[in-house]
Amino acid sequence: MTRLPNDCFGDMADMISVQEARLQIKQKAVMITEAETVPLAKASGRILSEDIISSVNVPPAGNSAVDGYAFAWSESKRTDGILKSVGRSAAGAPFTETVGPGECIKVFTGALLPDGLDTVAMIEDVREEDGTIHVPISLKQGANFRRAGEDVKMGDLLLRKGIRLRPQELGKLASVGLQDIPVQKQLKVGLFSTGDELVNPGDETRFGAVYDSNRYMLKALLETYGCEIKDLGILEDKLIPVRTALENASSECDLVITSGGVSMGDEDHVKAAVEQIGSLHFWRIAIKPGRPLALGQVGNTAFVGLPGNPVAALVCAMQFVRPLIAGLTGEADYISATPVLGESQFDMTKKPGRREWLRGRYSLSDTGQPVIEKYATDGSGILTSLTWANGLIELDEAQTDIKKGDSIRFLPFTELFA
Ligand code: AMP
Ligand code: MG
Repeated sequence: MTRLPNDCFGDMADMISVQEARLQIKQKAVMITEAETVPLAKASGRILSEDIISSVNVPPAGNSAVDGYAFAWSESKRTDGILKSVGRSAAGAPFTETVGPGECIKVFTGALLPDGLDTVAMIEDVREEDGTIHVPISLKQGANFRRAGEDVKMGDLLLRKGIRLRPQELGKLASVGLQDIPVQKQLKVGLFSTGDELVNPGDETRFGAVYDSNRYMLKALLETYGCEIKDLGILEDKLIPVRTALENASSECDLVITSGGVSMGDEDHVKAAVEQIGSLHFWRIAIKPGRPLALGQVGNTAFVGLPGNPVAALVCAMQFVRPLIAGLTGEADYISATPVLGESQFDMTKKPGRREWLRGRYSLSDTGQPVIEKYATDGSGILTSLTWANGLIELDEAQTDIKKGDSIRFLPFTELFA
């Protein structure tokens, strides 16, 4: 297995911007996954591990794009558009004889055109009169005719390695007849929660205990990012068990993620444990929500310590773990979520110098104007803010006063979950 170079997340400045953090992650996270072959039907969402060159033409042969009559364009010019129909060709049932001078055939969408025919008149534009067919003479040569290879030519680069396969890419792979698809192995992510206060939903609880929400939330998120999750449960707030669990996880995972336990309190043992068996660096990224993001390695396995507060954990995973995964899996075309713009429905004062992500709701007003509301409170333990929202409002570093009516940026969850 390929591994990260030693202490690759080490040389970071003290306080960094979001942009710098993402750039560093991109540069340092080398591809560690290996390639494998999966059946086409299982390739959705996977990262292509090789360039794919087409060995066939798509479409394989010239055919009609519409229902109508096919003819040689030069013949229609010569006969003033008056032709004699001598047969029919349908998709899967071609016309096998020859079409002579002054002749045409009836065709249906997808029907192969015999040699020499290059133009199709739509059925709606054709007039039948005394056993002859009148086609419009204004048609351009090649109208409604799909040339062999007009989508993909034999020898073309069909898809580039490093892309994540969406439905349309699966369609394209199928269109050239490929069945075995070379992809990167899924990133194996070991996921822990930490905290003596945590219990699993469904387990017996006790006074003051907190149900572990992060692990379920992060597992679902990381699965949408194409990872294979090893759910490693809840770690107690004790150094030795934390260290042992992280060590074990690192030997069987490509990436280990914890949430909680990385602030500087007495009960936060993740930091000390990782430092003993690897390296840990607190990246002070100028953001809200999210305290320092801990990035490091246990042995040569990448490690991320997310904040414990659920909102901060999810936001940090979307903003920083996502690009890390892209790097580790060789997802070359990954770009971070693209914002849309809308009109702020609120006034707010913001500290300059850091980026903030507020829980927001994007909708269209009665007049069709994109408008953005924000959740009333911004505590990073309030999951209700995330279930209310359909995305994150992104306020950049320089912004200070936001006024109702200002144009602001919004990251839809549909972007952040991809
Ligand atoms: P910590 O970073 O461990 O100090 O945790 C910060 C806050 O997040 C505390 O209130 C924790 O109870 C809470 N928290 C930590 N982990 C989880 C979790 N997995 N699910 C829900 N809340 C959590
Ligand atoms: Mg804790």
